[in-house]
Amino acid sequence: MKDIIDGRKVSLEIKEEIKNFVLNRKNENKSIPKIASILIGNDEGSIYYQNSQEKVSTSLGVEFLKIKLDEKITEENVIKEIYRLNNDSSISGIMILLPLPKGLNEKNIVNAISPKKDIDCLTYESVGKLYLGEETFIPCTAESILTLLKSYNVQLEGKEVVIIGRSNIVGKPTFQLLLNQNATVTICHSKTKNLQEICKRADVLIVAIGKPKFINSNYIKRGAVLIDVGTSSYEGKITGDIDFENVKDKAALITPVPGGVGALTTTLLIRNSCKALENSED
Ligand code: NAP
Repeated sequence: MKDIIDGRKVSLEIKEEIKNFVLNRKNENKSIPKIASILIGNDEGSIYYQNSQEKVSTSLGVEFLKIKLDEKITEENVIKEIYRLNNDSSISGIMILLPLPKGLNEKNIVNAISPKKDIDCLTYESVGKLYLGEETFIPCTAESILTLLKSYNVQLEGKEVVIIGRSNIVGKPTFQLLLNQNATVTICHSKTKNLQEICKRADVLIVAIGKPKFINSNYIKRGAVLIDVGTSSYEGKITGDIDFENVKDKAALITPVPGGVGALTTTLLIRNSCKALENSED
């Protein structure tokens, strides 16, 4: 194997950029980015994610408004809260932790976010722009994948990229981003026939299925770049979808789990809040 893709290192570089951005703004007496993060209910994963967003944001000098709403709140009141944040000029980016408690309509709620503050790319407008290849916020996991590939100078134009997984938050936006990079992209899912044959064509294989160690060396072309998005709990450890030990000698580059794609996502979300602030001043 040539190299391991170090997500933590790339994340640190972007964190430095964010710190400098905030510092420069402070020196120029300009406002600094502020994220409003809305958690409805008590989902454990979401609580953990919101706390970690807060910790990273404040360590970079970005302000963080943690909003916790009762799981019995009505859709109308959630939307009122979002409108209040849309109209608050001190807030540059808004995000909502998903999934929402049962009974709340996710589409109505996320689409109440102003697209200008939609740093997690949840609204119809942001998603539509992404698919048209127009400037917009990019969902953080997809952006993490592209950022890692670019950081390691992986050429994408004309290359055969295979993505396994077609979720709205990972597979589909990643498909679109890589298409915009002029790669030839195939997206596979649970009903795909001949998965091994298709994967073996890939110069870049991206796996986002949530099945630990599912992909072994039988799926890999020698010299391929492997991006593992999966994060499942397996034998007490966070484990990817790719069997790292089994494939590592065949791959040119590979992301570890943890320390690969996931190491960047929160940093990229925070960077989006800096972009949102800049956009608001254009
Ligand atoms: P998801 O919504 O559950 O989608 C899984 C996808 O995998 C579906 O498209 C499914 O196909 C496909 N699939 C499942 N089994 C398959 C098989 N045997 N062969 C081929 N395709 C198969 O998952 P997700 O939200 O995209 O997340 C995927 C994984 O990434 C999870 O482990 C999640 O925890 C992780 N994740 C990590 C990060 C990060 O920051 N590192 C971020 C987001 C997600 P169908 O559509 O046909 O059902």
